[in-house]
Amino acid sequence: MKVQFLGGAEEVGKIGAYIEESGANILIEYGLKLRPKEAPVPPEPPPHMVDHVLLTHSHLDHSGMIPWLCRENRDAKVLSTESTYEVSQLIWQDTLKIADMEGHHRPFEPEDIRIAMSSFVLKDFGQSLDWGGFEVKLHRAGHIPGATMYELNGNKTSLFTGDLHTISTRLVRGAIPVKCDNLFIEATYAGRNHENTRLKEEYRLIQKVKEVVERGGKAIIPCFAVGRTQEVMLLLKDLKLNMWVDGMGKHVNRIYLDFPEHLNLKDFKRAFNRFQAVRTSSDRRRVKRDADIIVTTGGMLDGGPVLEYIDAFQNDPDTAILMTGYQVPESNGQMLKDKHEIEVLADSSRGRSPEEILGPVETKRIKVKCEVEQFDLSAHADHEQLLKFIKGCKPQNVVLMHSDQPQMLAKDLEKDFNVIMPKTGQVFEL
Ligand SMILES: [Zn+2]
Ligand SMILES: [Zn+2]
Repeated sequence: MKVQFLGGAEEVGKIGAYIEESGANILIEYGLKLRPKEAPVPPEPPPHMVDHVLLTHSHLDHSGMIPWLCRENRDAKVLSTESTYEVSQLIWQDTLKIADMEGHHRPFEPEDIRIAMSSFVLKDFGQSLDWGGFEVKLHRAGHIPGATMYELNGNKTSLFTGDLHTISTRLVRGAIPVKCDNLFIEATYAGRNHENTRLKEEYRLIQKVKEVVERGGKAIIPCFAVGRTQEVMLLLKDLKLNMWVDGMGKHVNRIYLDFPEHLNLKDFKRAFNRFQAVRTSSDRRRVKRDADIIVTTGGMLDGGPVLEYIDAFQNDPDTAILMTGYQVPESNGQMLKDKHEIEVLADSSRGRSPEEILGPVETKRIKVKCEVEQFDLSAHADHEQLLKFIKGCKPQNVVLMHSDQPQMLAKDLEKDFNVIMPKTGQVFEL
């Protein structure tokens, strides 16, 4: 099996792994890397025409360039779960909307999304099929609803984890090791462990929300639309408070209601009914007046309705901005944490989109007097959890990807496994 990463091996973002085996050309993931204030970056183009694609989940760094790929490779078929298929479509449309609003070059056209949607083959966890000369089986990856690990059975067995979490959260069940010869595993948290247990972080967030509301403030919780929004809603669903959800997350909520096998649906339905969705600008005015809790995109504060809420409450020290996700350096979210400053839409850019306010177009910098606090609800396995998972798979070769410091994990693996830390463009045989 010949393997070449087209991106996303020694970095988090724009992942794509090209595999050649017995005449079949397979691509696993084909993402886009977001950059604050700049156009997103695609991986390198595949070296040959691709006929079979495997998509683990809908996050932009994994799915972002699939429409372009399907236009360039008309015969390519894309395998995923059904919830990944549905949410990816939403993410691609959102990507185009942001490109248009921010005046960047479109990475693909609306027509390409249509081509991509008609290229999918949908399967579920536990199912298998013949795919590019392999017998491919789908396994649950934890991470977010519908996220899949692919087991490829040929002369040898390879497992490609995509993004992975091994603990069960309120939203999804964790991944279980699969015996394999070659293990391609994400290593986002190489060298780092989650500081607190999940339950401790959840409790800390709930207590903070209660404290903020009791002192008369609002809890503004910026969240990534896919996965985190739903998890935070699940976490807060039993509070007897006035709770709202805004941004792309509310569209994702509707999609997830159809997939009982991909998430804890019984609880999520309760959460869904406890939170009111912001639909109109008069809803948004109501939220500013009455809400106790606002769960809203975007997670790194680089766009989304969250900016409007922060703008409205910037001078209220009783209000708190409770961040639950990773903040890329130079993102608005990181600037808020470091300097209590943030860039929001200037008045001249308001009202460009009645439904969603996406990327900042003309911006102004504001000083934020609200309390700012970070919580760790990561959807990725940490160093120790990765080690345990890898040992459970009993592989010969471990390929570390989706990490900017894979050597931190490699040094704990090298005595037991052959560890490969590929560079983008480098070809290797397994
Ligand atoms: Zn992901
Ligand atoms: Zn990822």
